[in-house]
Amino acid sequence: MKLLKEKIVAEGKVLSDEILKVDAFLNHQLDPVLMKEIGAEFARRFADEKITKVLTIESSGIAPALMAALELGVPLIFARKRKSLTLRQNVYETKVFSFTKQEINTITISRDYLSFDDRVLIIDDFLANGQAAEGLIDLVKQAGAKVVGLGIVIEKSFQQGGQKLRESGIRIESLAEIGSLRNGEVTFLP
Ligand code: 5GP
Repeated sequence: MKLLKEKIVAEGKVLSDEILKVDAFLNHQLDPVLMKEIGAEFARRFADEKITKVLTIESSGIAPALMAALELGVPLIFARKRKSLTLRQNVYETKVFSFTKQEINTITISRDYLSFDDRVLIIDDFLANGQAAEGLIDLVKQAGAKVVGLGIVIEKSFQQGGQKLRESGIRIESLAEIGSLRNGEVTFLP
């Protein structure tokens, strides 16, 4: 997606060979016009999939996922990282290792919002080693629902998540695929 790649080049900051900071438009300050276009692009790519729910993980997945849900005309559920006092029982839960925080989070969603007949599009801001996506897939499976695909804003293709998940049969649509962050420079895959 051209607009997204331009934004990454103009406003992204390469923190190391592995980490890209996009606080200027995705992870802290949000660019609503870009988010709207991202939502429309995901909706276009998954238009034939009869999606009934969009699922993401708080907090940075929420903006692009909400825009996709709006375009698709379906609800968005975001998995919570901390158990809220009002979400103690009646939940699906799983453990996810956070790549950026280097800690394990228990993520939960209420059983009220996913059921066996749902067709779920999972959306996240980044795909690195795939742990966040695998956790979300696990929650959908616990509900007996179907994962129709994974929509990723920025895939770091030099990490293992994308390959692993594609090999397991998951359809992944990434709007920007980064081949390398070496020498402080973002190189996209063609
Ligand atoms: P994974 O679980 O695929 O290893 O990592 C994906 C999660 O880690 C995403 O939800 C995202 O929040 C975070 N993440 C991974 N790599 C990066 C990165 O280079 N930059 C930022 N800002 N977040 C990242």
